[in-house]
Amino acid sequence: MKAAILNKPAPVSTNPLVVAEIATPTPGPGEILIRVLCCGVCRTDLHVVEGELPQHKSPVIPGHQVVGTIESFGPGTSPGLNGGRRFKLGDRVGLAWLHHTDGTCEYCRRGAENLCDRPTFTGYTVDGGYAEYVVADENFVYAIPASFTDQQAAPLLCAGIIGFRSLRLADVKPGARLGFYGFGAAAHLAIQVARHWKAEVYALTRDERHRRLALELGAKWAGDTFDTPPEQLDSAIVFAPAGEIVPAALKILRKGGSVVLGGIHMSPIPSFSYDLLYQERVVRSVANNTRQDGEDFLRIAAEIPIRSHVKLFPLAEANRALNSLKSDAIEGAAVIQVRDR
Ligand SMILES: [Zn+2]
Ligand SMILES: [Zn+2]
Repeated sequence: MKAAILNKPAPVSTNPLVVAEIATPTPGPGEILIRVLCCGVCRTDLHVVEGELPQHKSPVIPGHQVVGTIESFGPGTSPGLNGGRRFKLGDRVGLAWLHHTDGTCEYCRRGAENLCDRPTFTGYTVDGGYAEYVVADENFVYAIPASFTDQQAAPLLCAGIIGFRSLRLADVKPGARLGFYGFGAAAHLAIQVARHWKAEVYALTRDERHRRLALELGAKWAGDTFDTPPEQLDSAIVFAPAGEIVPAALKILRKGGSVVLGGIHMSPIPSFSYDLLYQERVVRSVANNTRQDGEDFLRIAAEIPIRSHVKLFPLAEANRALNSLKSDAIEGAAVIQVRDR
């Protein structure tokens, strides 16, 4: 199969992904082989490729927003499926960041599998979807609502799900005033959920095109990253990986408000005065998601219905997709089109 392979982390400007022919993987017990149709490009892919996240597998194929069809089943069935199967050959499924959890650690047992002690992650600790085929656990893939095209569905699988979990942790209530720092793939989907929940969205981003997209999608106000919105906010979700935003976000919150950090990596957070945190303001991170988050989000996404803005790149241009993401040149989400149908 063809795959875009990372042999060694390096700045994306050096085009570190190499597109090559390698052996198609074989699904093990309880696993499925997915024939990839397309794969969304996430900021986490940038952190993997540039080495901001510690390396776990080398070489590795990035990509964790995979839409594809089931090509074959591994031997046996997944534990917990009672001898049955969730899917049949040819079904369209989505594979996201959470590739597998042990199901036995204290976090899994208390329903917080996103914090599992022994997880594997697609396109990071195991190979991902910048390839013609990828292997997944049948219990860890999603049915994609039929109303979404393949390309539309891809960004839902991380940008969408993580944005949704961020909204949940921000405890969004109707009428709430919500700030979004950064307005890329995750924010452009999360705003559609927030508006559906009758919240007001204030977008803070350095990129003029992203501010325009925010207003088009119903943001009440859009300004530069360190501007002060016209109202105090109930919560702010930080999608941009810049630590200096954290004190700035605290500054625009009402008492008791929360700042939710939606990314897996962030530059160091500068020290700040306790006054900014006092009055029961909260700073918290989002780590991964549970499968329940994914199922809930995909159902709501189809109900709304959410529209993803996507820019397509062929697999051979995976490096260009990452470079475009890094330079804020994507309106909405970048998607790698692996196969046309
Ligand atoms: Zn676990
Ligand atoms: Zn992601």
